[in-house]
Amino acid sequence: MGALPHLLLFDIDGTLLNTGGAGMRAFALALEHLYPEQVAACGGVPDIDFAGSTDSGIVMGIFAKMGMEDSGAERARFYASYLDFLRLNLGEPGAGGSLLDGVAELLGKLQGNDYDNRVLSGLLTGNIAAGATMKTDHYGISGYFHFGAYGDDHHDRNQLGPVAVQRASGFWGQDLSAAPVTVIGDTVKDIRCARAFGARVVAVASGCIPVHELAAHEPDILLESLGDVDAVLSQLQLA
Ligand SMILES: [Mg+2]
Repeated sequence: MGALPHLLLFDIDGTLLNTGGAGMRAFALALEHLYPEQVAACGGVPDIDFAGSTDSGIVMGIFAKMGMEDSGAERARFYASYLDFLRLNLGEPGAGGSLLDGVAELLGKLQGNDYDNRVLSGLLTGNIAAGATMKTDHYGISGYFHFGAYGDDHHDRNQLGPVAVQRASGFWGQDLSAAPVTVIGDTVKDIRCARAFGARVVAVASGCIPVHELAAHEPDILLESLGDVDAVLSQLQLA
């Protein structure tokens, strides 16, 4: 049996792509659609700290702020409405979203012969699985990811790393708990999530967190963007 593959766990929003606010708007629209009275009683959709949070964590917080009972059935109803609005928003002409610099080229190279069987790419995201698939499908990159851990696996992002490794093992058909792991994300929460399971972390300042704030949390590698793909690959030391 050969060496274990290097697991690359990518965050989605602010790291791979930017939906132009489609995701946040879908959240707000679903809340206004399903719970107009509670939203009005709060004086509008409650403030939400989206960056790096899990969808289930956000929903828990909003239900609490709106004084609503949290249940699996209610979350499922909310997610169904959220996904309806997300699909509509992503499809709107001029929605303004895009893949971020370098992402298409980087994913293509990681899947190419140079890295074949040495790198295994997956998702580690706060998005619920169906939302992650909708976003990555919309921007044409879902085929690059072989497994994932999602915001409906746990509300605490720091619990998602081991889930991702377990899913990678299932895909690979071999226990990968000893494999090298790198988390790639755009927020302080991605850095903390990587630390929580002993992974290396690449912080990319392509989302809404400025580079100096990411630097303060001492990621192993800090990049302004993924735009210079050869430099990214060399920093990752996968070659
Ligand atoms: Mg992000």
